[in-house]
Amino acid sequence: MIDTHSHIYLDIFDGDRSLVVNRAVEAGITRILLPNIDSQSITALYQAERDYPETCKVLMGLHPTSVKKDYKKELSIIEKQLSVRSFAGIGEIGFDLYWDTTFRKEQVDALVTQLTWAAEMNLPVAIHTRNAFPDIFDVFAKIYDHRLRGVFHSFSGTLNDARQILKMPNFYLGINGTVTYKNSNLPNILLSTGYERLLLETDAPYLPPVPHRGKRNEPAYMLNTANKVAEIFAVSRQTVDEITTDNANKLFM
Ligand SMILES: [Zn+2]
Repeated sequence: MIDTHSHIYLDIFDGDRSLVVNRAVEAGITRILLPNIDSQSITALYQAERDYPETCKVLMGLHPTSVKKDYKKELSIIEKQLSVRSFAGIGEIGFDLYWDTTFRKEQVDALVTQLTWAAEMNLPVAIHTRNAFPDIFDVFAKIYDHRLRGVFHSFSGTLNDARQILKMPNFYLGINGTVTYKNSNLPNILLSTGYERLLLETDAPYLPPVPHRGKRNEPAYMLNTANKVAEIFAVSRQTVDEITTDNANKLFM
């Protein structure tokens, strides 16, 4: 299986990263995709890739919460990296109006720039969206290009948002621990959209699934999310594993 979104390069894993990777591999998660955050995270990102080349694949991009006054400089650093080596995709990129709306215009510009690169370079995108679904669809309506493909990671929208995403032929919904939370409406939404266009992820160290809530999340815990998805659709775990792994391979590998 493939954890399509994880940040195990962050320093919260510095003491036991090898154990975390070993537990993932033992749990059957043989690939972990690592999306970048900003210029400050690149060194740690590449180090994780060097340390676990069989398991870890990296994406390059500028995260929307790192889009500030100096975002053009940040984007030029990302662009430079994209020009000198290969990546599994561009990410994470997107729109976040939950923490701060100060740089709304700049976030749109950074997103459009990076989506344009993705289309030109024929790379998949990992999209982060928080409190910004109507806004991000406006962006897609303006610049949609048939070469774009990707995942709306940690999907947190409504049923209509999910339907709108799935209207784009090569886009997927990224599902993580939030689907296991008691008051989550995501299971109902998924029952309406079906499981054919889902990807699994952890977003480690964030959003641990039940029964690991309150702890640091890690890739091995993705099995709890997979079990929950199987339960929602009343299908076998094997079915969920096969479909989501197949989708991840099609999109990223
Ligand atoms: Zn992330």
